[in-house]
Order: sequence, then structure tokens, then C-alpha cells
Amino acid sequence: MPDAQPHSDASPADRPPEIAAFDVVVVGAGFGGLYMLHRLRGLGLSARVFEAADGVGGTWYWNRYPGARCDVESMQYSYSFSEELQQEWHWPERFSAQPDILRYANHVADRFDLRRDIRFETRVTSVAWDEAAERWTVETDRGDRITARFCIMATGCLSAARMPDIPGLDSFEGDTYHTGHWPHEGVDLAGRRVAVIGTGSSAIQAIPVIAEQAGHVTVFQRTPNFSIPSRNKPMDAEYENLWKSDYRARRLKARTMRNGILYHLNDKGAMEVSEEDRLREYEARWEGGGIAFMAAYNNLALDAEANRTAADFVREKIRSIVRDPAKAEALMPRDYPIGTKRICVDTDYFETFNRDNVSLVDLRKTPIEAIAPKGVRTTDGTVHEADAIVFATGFDAMTGALLKAGIRGRGGLALADKWEEGPRSYLGLMVAGFPNLFTITGPGSPSVLSNMMVSIEQHVDWIADCLAYLGATGVRTIEATQEAEDAWVAHGMEVANRTLYPRAASWYMGANIPGKPRVFMPYIGGVGVYREKCDEIAAKGYEGFRLSPPPATAARAEAAE
Ligand code: NAP
Repeated sequence: MPDAQPHSDASPADRPPEIAAFDVVVVGAGFGGLYMLHRLRGLGLSARVFEAADGVGGTWYWNRYPGARCDVESMQYSYSFSEELQQEWHWPERFSAQPDILRYANHVADRFDLRRDIRFETRVTSVAWDEAAERWTVETDRGDRITARFCIMATGCLSAARMPDIPGLDSFEGDTYHTGHWPHEGVDLAGRRVAVIGTGSSAIQAIPVIAEQAGHVTVFQRTPNFSIPSRNKPMDAEYENLWKSDYRARRLKARTMRNGILYHLNDKGAMEVSEEDRLREYEARWEGGGIAFMAAYNNLALDAEANRTAADFVREKIRSIVRDPAKAEALMPRDYPIGTKRICVDTDYFETFNRDNVSLVDLRKTPIEAIAPKGVRTTDGTVHEADAIVFATGFDAMTGALLKAGIRGRGGLALADKWEEGPRSYLGLMVAGFPNLFTITGPGSPSVLSNMMVSIEQHVDWIADCLAYLGATGVRTIEATQEAEDAWVAHGMEVANRTLYPRAASWYMGANIPGKPRVFMPYIGGVGVYREKCDEIAAKGYEGFRLSPPPATAARAEAAE
């Protein structure tokens, strides 16, 4: 029986605080939270979803900066759980722009009537385990106090936007923006002098679009990035029909792939072929566009020499595109293997540096000293004047949003304390000491190294199946054992250390946040392998989890009733 089902209207801004009991609380109404709610309804469980924004969509709600676009192809960056939905929905472009993805999230929320269980504009401030009641108490900044048997964190991997701690920020006389919190009404940058700080995926998408409007753009680059052209184009009807003709089979195949994306992964190593063949392959992938470039050979993430051939190819492309040799040199990444910082995908990024109204400041030569009233001051004393500063400075990735929720488990243990030396979890799904709390695409799962839609659906389905099992067997609590968690963390590190990834100071490693522990956070063993592992664990009666009371006892008790 569901615990309770109080009022069901979408929340007005001035709604009274809600004091109630539910089976499940879900935090976040992005793609993870939306599908989770849908599955919980199917199980007959009562659920309350809290969402800080005033609408659904998560990352696609917040990241409205000019040029924001997904770099997984539209036909694959969408839900697969409803055949009708995937057949009926039409994506206008090969790679979807943010407004189209947000439109899709809203469509899903309406189509499956999800909004009535979501409380918008409500931020979760505390999530505490009540040992005696075996329930979570969830509190919000609107005074809500909800208890629930289960709590599911669907807070996303890249949702805690990060402003760097640069002195003088308050003194700036112009406007400041963060790509991850772009104003909903848009920003008119026409004719203005715009400083862009950062050259990650967000900046690389935004800069070419901003440069078309702005009077002048000054790009502040600390670390150059590898970027592959997207070759975005309107959706080809034939291509769309091809996908839709056997969508299900394609989705199933994608789930077995290393990163949950169906594309041609060459089964050869880069050094197994001649240089001529290699260049031909890279050229074809560069022309094809997108992140499939990194699948040109099967060992680009593993073998430094193989990796260097791909990196050299992209560096040569930068040299051939950017006319000013000094700018071209500054834009070439040299101190980390290609792909070990998230590969970027762009539309005319390097070409943009040929424009007269775009200049580049190499922060490795002249770091930012302070923000001055009129612009950005570098250590050579120059004030780069600007009317607006765009911070494209990224996120406290993977752990930031989870830690902000104020989660406390058994004995009042704060998740922040447990993760002081880096996130530890079992499968990126549960954390020892935090019973009945699940993390959708948490650290320790493939998450950001994969097609997020595939990983979200896999986690939501696994959690839903788990809850159904617990319900059917009378189990009240499920918790990762310490041993299983330790073994999973060790395995994750071992797999990561077999790759080149730990060689880069990336946000995967927590390296973008001063003081954050350097731990490789996502699971890099591959989406297909990971899914098998999760399924196997469930099939063995949730191996590595402590179920209480044990299902056998629960079943016996049920039979005796
Ligand atoms: P990001 O990759 O973390 O990039 C942040 C940028 O800001 C980096 O260039 C960083 O330099 C720079 N930076 C940070 N602090 C700075 C400081 N104090 N001074 C100067 N520069 C500073 O963040 P992002 O671009 O928002 O992307 C984050 C992730 O979101 C991506 O990796 C991707 O997974 C996802 N994303 C995906 C898409 C897509 O699907 N196409 C688009 C956007 C974002 P350093 O490198 O030196 O730290």
C-alpha cells in the first residue's frame, strides 16, 4: 500500500509547506527524476519529487547559453522506454540544441502526467536517516518535511555550477553570467565587449555564437582543449526512418557498447595499421564529425603512442584552420592525452579565432590576477576591458549536487565526511551507511563517460526492479556492505589506472576544484560490462547488499501470516 497520497496539484510558488509520508522521495526532475517517477507510479508507490528549478529538464533547464547543444546524436539522446514516444517524437537536427531537448523533457512530463507529483522551486536542504523508523526525513527550503522509506537522488552529474574564486569579482561594473545558469530571457550581447573565461565544452560551443553577435570577444584560456567538428545538420528523413524502423534493436545494441552510443568502434589498434591508413581513418572521422572520432581505434584511451597519433592529427587540423600561427600554437593542447579531458564537439570553434573581433589570452603565460571594474586583469598588468564576463568555468562535477543536499546516514554520518577523500559507493548506486538511498548515475558508475540517457534508464530500471523485489519479499532496508563498496572502489581505480585518463587534470578527477580529492570518479569499465555486472548482482539476490530482514525470513513471515 502506498504510504500517502496528499494533494496532487503542481506547486504554486506560495504553496504551504508539506508535512507528509511517502514511499519514495526523488530529488531532481531532470531526465533521471522524470523517468524514476514514471517507474515508481508503475509500481504503485507514492512519490514526491523536489526540483529547485521552476520546470523540468535538469541540465537542459539550466544550460541555456548560446550554442548549447548535445554532442550525442538526437536519435540516441532520448528515452527508449516508450516505443510510442520514440516513434512519434521528431528531432529537427542531427545534434539537438538545448531548446529542443527542453521541449522534449516538457513533452515527456506532460505526456506521462508527471508534474502533479513534482514540487518545483523547492531545494532539498537535508536528507537524514531515521534509524528507529527506518525512513528518510527530507527537508526543503520551503519548510516541507517529508518522510519516505526510500530516497533517490536524481541530482545529475554536472549541476553544481562553479564560479572561480577570482579576487575583485564584486568590483566589476559590467554584467556577469555563468553558462550553467544562463538567464531564461536570453542575453543581448550585440555589439558588446565580452570576456569568456574557460575553454571547456560549454565555452567551445558558446564562443562561436557569441562572436557572431558581440562587438569583441576576448577568450581567456587556461588549458586548450581538443575539439572535433560536429557536422551538425538538419535531421535527414531517411536516417530518421532507418533508426525508427528498428529502434528497439538499435537501443538494445547501444546498451552493450562501451559508452552506450551506437557507432562504429574500430576493433583495431592504432599502431596495427600504416600511417597512411591511420590518417585516412582520422580524416574520415573528422569529416563524419562528433565524438565517434575517439572510436577510430580501440586503444586510443589505453596506449600513449596510439593516443599521440590522434592528438597529432587534431593539432595539425588546428594548425591548418587557424591562420595566425601564434594563436594556433596557443590553441593546441599538448600536456594531456586526447580524450582524457572530456573531448569537445564544436561548430566552427577554431575557425572563430580567424575573426577580427576575437582575441585569445593565454593564461598559462599571463594568468588572471583579478577582475577589475572595467574588465579582467592579467599578471602582466593589462586590463582586458569588457562589458560582460561569461564564466564558462564548469561544475563541481559528480559529487557537488549530492553533497549540497545535506545527506546524513546511519549514526548521523554526513555523506560529506564519508567522502572527504573522494566518493565511495557500490556500483555508483548505493553507499554503505546510507540504507535505502540510491544515486542515479552516481560516482562509481559509467555516468559522464556514457550516453547519459542510456545510463539513466539503466539505473532507473535497476532501482525500480530492486524496489519491486524488496516489496515482494518483505525486505525493509537494503544497504551496500562495506566490503562490497571497498571492492568496487578498488576495482574502479584499477580499471581507471589501466587507461590514460588519470594523466589529465580533469574534472573527472576532481582537479578543477581547489582542495577536491583527486580520485577518478566515473566507472570506466564500459556501459555494457557494467550493466551485466549490475544484472548479475541483482540475479544473485542483490549480492554485496545487506537486506533486512533477509528475504528468506521475510518470505517465511509472509507465509506464516
Ligand atoms: P569544464 O569542462 O570544466 O571547463 C571549464 C573551463 O573553465 C576550463 O577551460 C577551465 O580551465 C576553465 N577555468 C576554470 N576555472 C578557471 C579559472 N579560475 N581561471 C581560468 N579558467 C578557468 O566545464 P564545461 O565547459 O561547462 O563542461 C563541463 C562538462 O559538461 C563537459 O565536459 C561535458 O561533459 C558537459 N557538457 C557537454 C556538452 C555537450 O554535450 N556538448 C556541452 C557543454 C558541457 P582548466 O581546464 O585549466 O581547468
